[in-house]
Amino acid sequence: MATELSLPPLSDGNLAFFFDLDGTLAEIQPHPDQVHIPIAVRALLEKISVMQDGALALISGRPMAELDKLAAPHRFPLAGVHGAERRDINGNTHAVTLPAEVAQALKLRLETELAAMPGTELECKGMAFALHYRQAPEFESSILSLASTLVSFYEELSLQPGKCVVEIKPRGINKGEAIAAFMEQPPFAGRTPVFIGDDLTDEAGFSVVNAMNGISIKVGKGETDARYRLMNVQAVHAWLEYVVQQLEKQKKLNDRSVGYESLSRSI
Ligand SMILES: [Mg+2]
Repeated sequence: MATELSLPPLSDGNLAFFFDLDGTLAEIQPHPDQVHIPIAVRALLEKISVMQDGALALISGRPMAELDKLAAPHRFPLAGVHGAERRDINGNTHAVTLPAEVAQALKLRLETELAAMPGTELECKGMAFALHYRQAPEFESSILSLASTLVSFYEELSLQPGKCVVEIKPRGINKGEAIAAFMEQPPFAGRTPVFIGDDLTDEAGFSVVNAMNGISIKVGKGETDARYRLMNVQAVHAWLEYVVQQLEKQKKLNDRSVGYESLSRSI
């Protein structure tokens, strides 16, 4: 796949936008609680959403409740926990759960194991668990082997590695499936999907978007199936401004041609 720094084309502007959050719209911080999307960037997202009839969704590993807080005061369609929970344009939520006894057993085991690795952090998301080691990179291999051992016990689970984190999530859940589900419904259906992400979890999204002849964009370095690349979060923010300008230009052209049509009809 192309890995050059090149600005993705916007074709005719009939697009559906999907954004990862951490490392894409917002800079990664030492702790996930410190992450924020600059208010001007939130406003750009809202503008794009309005111009695209609401075809803009956030696709993240975070739970949906956190995504709403980070996007406030705006409220977008969401896929949280890598797609295990999803809220569509009508506000209906779709969620995958783990059997209660599996979730409970995992939680207890993980709490005990991570307590013995100071600096690591367990994040319980209901149907998924994130094992963070950004503050304790010396435990990376212990965390990875613990997670893969646990996943091998349960056929309903799978592993999702990320940046300084490994997650245990329901099998069959990924960002690609979430994007595909959005693309089946209005206002997304019939548009060209655009997906931007920075991490391993986003690769499933890139594959789905590539298969739909869409625009897949990787943020930062690293191997990827994405067709385009933006170098960092700042480049994403600059690109969003460019997107707004292009869409506004496109809209003016469309309005003008509609104007000419009605003028020629009335003559
Ligand atoms: Mg990310």
